Amino acid sequence: MQIVQRLSVLILAAALLQACGGDRSERPKPAMISSGDMADIARTAFEQLKSKSTISTDFESQSRLRCVVGVLAAELPEEARDWDWQTLVFDDPAIDAFALPGAAVGINSGMLALIDDEAGLAAVLGHDLAHLQLGHVAARVSGAFTADTAIAAVQTYRGAQGPQQSRTLYALLGLGSRVGLPLAYSSADESAAFRAGLELSARAGHDPAQMLAWWQKLAATSADSRPAWVSLHGDPTTRLTELRAAMPELTTLFAAAQAGGKRPDCRSSSG
Ligand SMILES: [Zn+2]
Repeated sequence: MQIVQRLSVLILAAALLQACGGDRSERPKPAMISSGDMADIARTAFEQLKSKSTISTDFESQSRLRCVVGVLAAELPEEARDWDWQTLVFDDPAIDAFALPGAAVGINSGMLALIDDEAGLAAVLGHDLAHLQLGHVAARVSGAFTADTAIAAVQTYRGAQGPQQSRTLYALLGLGSRVGLPLAYSSADESAAFRAGLELSARAGHDPAQMLAWWQKLAATSADSRPAWVSLHGDPTTRLTELRAAMPELTTLFAAAQAGGKRPDCRSSSG
């Protein structure tokens, strides 16, 4: 068991070194997995999670998630706007949410319980969608896998008990907490996704003041009681400082969205 654990750390460290660009040597950059292959890999990962997790039977939560993702996706770059978004609420107390490049978004009931309103949900999901929009997920996976090795690894999902290759791939896809390998992005990627996610939410018509309230709530939690999901996204105090700095621009985007009639309300969504 110890050898397996040590091996897992080594493999992950190698993957991270490549994925984070920590190696400044002359080694050529890994070839990017094509967006079509990434979508296939991610869709398979989503199907695996679906078949091996408990899906929430709360129809209202499922509808609201679908509605909020639809509102945000409409603001994504053109090629992502028409993706066939799949959304799913998992019945799982762990604080977790994710967005996959094959146009799939998942959130745990534990995470939903933490969120007060639609703007908070949009802030969380906007952030995950921004990682996709900025190509962070594809770059991280491409740093450690070829399309062929990733396709082979994605099919053998067995959670934290799964084969190492599979666990590493799921971690790089942003599903690390589901395989016992939570994995952060570089702080530069986190900052970029944070800003892009907030802009996405404001453009969709979500009030930045409400997003600020959500991050203030997270930043107010003590480091010991803070959910791992929060720590994975960098220091909440840093995020809060970035958000405050972005407020003038976010307020302008929000005002333009309101003027354009964008007033998202998914509370009574039954889509
Ligand atoms: Zn992030």
